[in-house]
Amino acid sequence: MTVMPRPSILSVEPYVGGESKIPGVNRVVKLSSNEGAFGPPPGAIDAIRNMAAEAHRYPDGGVTALREAIGARFGLDPTQIVCGNGSDELLALLILAYGGEGTELVMSAHGFLMYDITGRWAGCRVIKVPERNLTVDVDAMLAAVGPRTKLVCLANPNNPTGSILPQSEIMRLRVGLRDDILLVLDSAYAEYVTRMDYDAGAALVDAGGGNTVMTRTFSKIFGLGGMRLGWAYAPAAVVGVLSRVRGPFNVNAAAMAAGIAAVQEAGWIEKSIAHNTEWRIKLGAALTAAGVKVWPSEGNFLLADFGSAEKAKAADAALRSRGLIMRAMGGYGLPACLRISIGTGEECQTVADAIAAFMAQHG
Ligand SMILES: *Cc1c(COP(=O)(O)O)cnc(C)c1O
Repeated sequence: MTVMPRPSILSVEPYVGGESKIPGVNRVVKLSSNEGAFGPPPGAIDAIRNMAAEAHRYPDGGVTALREAIGARFGLDPTQIVCGNGSDELLALLILAYGGEGTELVMSAHGFLMYDITGRWAGCRVIKVPERNLTVDVDAMLAAVGPRTKLVCLANPNNPTGSILPQSEIMRLRVGLRDDILLVLDSAYAEYVTRMDYDAGAALVDAGGGNTVMTRTFSKIFGLGGMRLGWAYAPAAVVGVLSRVRGPFNVNAAAMAAGIAAVQEAGWIEKSIAHNTEWRIKLGAALTAAGVKVWPSEGNFLLADFGSAEKAKAADAALRSRGLIMRAMGGYGLPACLRISIGTGEECQTVADAIAAFMAQHG
C-alpha cells in the first residue's frame, strides 16, 4: 500500500516548457517560449526595483490598483477582471471549478496543451477535435459536444499553430453551444493581431450570456513571463467563482507593480506590434525562400514545417549546435514542425541564416 492521487492525475503528461540552455554553449538565442522581443518594459523594471524594500508586506489581495490599470488600458470594468499567477493559473481554476469527474472538455487537436493537462487533472474526459488546415473547425467542435460537455477551451490566435478565427466564427461557436457550457477564449496573443475581423473576447463576455470568459497574459507582448501574471475578463458569476477558489495572495507584489507599469508604458504595444509584424513577414519570407513551409501566424511566432519529423529533428540539432533554441512540436502532434518566436531583428536574421544554411545542405 502506498499513497495514491486520484487516478486521473496519473494520466497527465507534465508540461515541458521551452528550453533556455544548451550544455557547453555560452551565448544562446532563446526563441522557444514566445516571450516578446524586447524584454520587460523599462517602467516595469523600475517598478520591480522600487517595490523590493516593501517585499516584507503582503500584497493587496484584492489586486485593486492593477485591475484598475488593466481596465483603464483596455476599456473594461475592473470589477469583471480577476488576476492570476499567469493566465495558466486562471485557466486551471476555471477548468477545475467548472469541469471534474464525469464531465468533458472540448479543445482542438493542436490547441494549447495546458487545457489537456488541467482537464485531466480535473478528471474531465478531454476531447481533441480535428482541425482543418491547422485551424479550429467550428463545425467539428460543435459536433464533438455532448451532454456531459462543460467546457470548450480555445486559444485565439492559437499557440502553436498561429491560426486565428474571425469574430464571426467565434460567435457561431458560442451560438451553437448550450448555455450551460463555459467557453474559455484564451487570448494570450491578442495584442499582436493585425486583422480587423478579430475580437479578443470582451464582446462576447459583454453580450451577457454569463458563460464566456476571456483570459489574457503579461507573458507575451508585455515581456513579463518571469513575473507570472495573467488576467481574466469574466461575467460577474464567474468572477465570484474565481474569487472563491483563487489563493488570497495569488498575485505577488512585484508582479502587481510590474503589471501596472507595463500597461502604462507609453508606446510599448505599438512598438511591439510594429516590430512583430515586420519580422513575422521577413522571417516568414526568408524561411519560405529557403524551402521551409511557414504557416500563417497572427502571434509572435511562426510554425515552420519541415515536411517530416526527421528533417525537423535534424534542423533542430543544427540550430542548437549554433546556440539557437526553437521549440520542438512533438508534444503538440506536429513533429515535422518547429515553433520559432519572433525575437529581435538580429535574432530573427541569425535564425533565418542558419535555417537557410541547413536547407542548402539537406534540402
Ligand atoms: C503563453 C500562453 C499562456 C500562458 O501564459 P501565462 O500567463 O504565462 O501563464 C496561455 N495560453 C497560451 C495560448 C499561451 O501561449
